[in-house]
Amino acid sequence: MKTDTIAAISTPLNSSGIGIVRMSGDEAVIIADKVFRKKGNKKLSDAVSHTIHYGHIWDETGMIDEVLVMLMRGPKTFTAEDTVEINCHGGVYVMKRVLRALLKNGAVMATPGEFTKRAFLNGRIDLSQAEAVMDLIQSQNNYAMEASLSQLGGEISAIIRELREKIIFEIAYIESALDDPEHISLEDYGDNLREKVSGLLITCEKLKSSFKNGRIIREGINTVILGKPNAGKSSVMNRMLGEERAIVTDIAGTTRDTLEESVNLDGFTLNMIDTAGIHETEDKVEKIGIERALSSAQKADLILYIIDSTEGVSEDDINLLEKLQGKPIILLWNKTDRSSEKELNKNQLADFVSEIIKFSAITGEGLSELIDLLKQMFYDGDISVKHELYITNERHYDALVQTIDSLKLVIDSIDQGLPEDFYSIDMMNAYTSLGLIIGESVEDDLVNEIFSKFCMGK
Ligand code: GDP
Repeated sequence: MKTDTIAAISTPLNSSGIGIVRMSGDEAVIIADKVFRKKGNKKLSDAVSHTIHYGHIWDETGMIDEVLVMLMRGPKTFTAEDTVEINCHGGVYVMKRVLRALLKNGAVMATPGEFTKRAFLNGRIDLSQAEAVMDLIQSQNNYAMEASLSQLGGEISAIIRELREKIIFEIAYIESALDDPEHISLEDYGDNLREKVSGLLITCEKLKSSFKNGRIIREGINTVILGKPNAGKSSVMNRMLGEERAIVTDIAGTTRDTLEESVNLDGFTLNMIDTAGIHETEDKVEKIGIERALSSAQKADLILYIIDSTEGVSEDDINLLEKLQGKPIILLWNKTDRSSEKELNKNQLADFVSEIIKFSAITGEGLSELIDLLKQMFYDGDISVKHELYITNERHYDALVQTIDSLKLVIDSIDQGLPEDFYSIDMMNAYTSLGLIIGESVEDDLVNEIFSKFCMGK
C-alpha cells in the first residue's frame, strides 16, 4: 500500500548552526530530486543508499540554501521507509522555505510524532520503545536519559515478551488438553500452573515496584521545604537553585503561598516546593498557605525541614515534625555561619528526622553533603539505571497492575478448584494487558493519542 510521503522540520525552530528537514515515504527520493541540484546534475535516485550528497536546494524563485542531503532507503531507516534528511542552515526562514519546497513537490506535512509512529507501524520498534524516544527527547537529567535509552534499546520489551511467551504457552497447553483430553493430561496441572504463575507474579511485582524509583528518575524527587517563618526556607531554595528566585525578606511570613522550582543536581532532578512558614497564626491567607504546605508535604517524596540554628528547636518544630512522622525528612540546621548558633541536640530530633545536616544558605556549607545524601537515599548511592530495569511510564505501570490482578485471579481459581477454562480466561487477560506495554493489541485510538504527544518532526 502506498503511503503519503511526510516531511517536517526536525530541529528546534530557533536559529542554530544547522537545521534538519526530514522526509519519509515512498516518494521521498523522487521529491528530493525535484528540489535538489548537485554537481554534474546527478540524481539522488541513481545514488547508493546511506550516502551523503552536497548540493543546493532550489524552488521556483531560485536557490534557497547550500545543503548536505542524507539519502537512506528503507527498510534500514528509522521509519523503515525511504528517508531523506536535508541538513540546511539552521535559520527558521531557511528551514521553512526548504520544507515548503518539499510540500510543493508532493510531500505532506507530518503530524507530531508521525515519523516515530511509522517506525512503530512498520514494526521497526514497539510501543514501549516509541515512548522511550519521546522520553529521551523530554528527559531533563542524566539518569532519566539513561533509563530512556535502556527502554529504547528494548530491555523492557524483552522482558515483557518473555512473560507473554510463558503465558501463551500455558494457554495453548490448556486449550489443547481440553480439545484432546486423551493425549494431553491436565492432572496435577493446577499445582504446576500455580507455581509458574507465582513466578510470573514475582517478576511483574518487581517491575511494578520499580515505578516509584522510575518516576523519581524521570521526574525528580518531589521535595517540600518546611520550617518556621524566617528559618531560611526561601534562602535554602535559592542556594539550591543558584539564583535569587524566591523572595527573601527579614519579615516573618513573607512566603505566603507555595512556590515551585526544579533544579538539576549532579545528574538528578530535585523539584522543590517552598512553603509558607508553619506557625500558629490568625491570618486567614497565611492559614490557607500553611494548610497547603502540610498537604503538599504529605504527598512529597522528601521533606527538607529548616531550622534557624540561632533560634534552636522550638515546640512548633517538634509539633510539626510529629505530624510528619513516617516521611523521609532531612533536617537542615541552617545559618551555621552565624556566631550565635545554638547547640544542636541530635538526640532530641533523632525520633523525627532521618538525617541532620549543618547548613548555611549564605555560604553554601552543607550543600555537597546534602547532594550526596540525596543520592544515597533515593538512588542507592548511584542510580544503577544501566544495570536495573525501571518502569518510568505510567501507562506501563497501569498495564502491570492489570496483569497482576489477572494473574492473582488465576491463582484464586486454582485454589478454588475451578475448571481449567477459567484459568485460561484470566491468563488471556494478563497476556493482553502485558501486550499493551509493547503495543500489541493496542487500539488505534490509543496509538494516536500516544503519538500525538510527540513533538513535530520526530
Ligand atoms: P523563610 O521565611 O524561611 O523563607 O526565610 P528566608 O529565606 O526569607 O530568610 C529569612 C532571613 O534569614 C533573611 O534575612 C535571610 O537572609 C536570612 N538567612 C537565611 N539563611 C541564612 C543563613 O544560612 N545564614 C545567615 N546568616 N542568614 C540566613
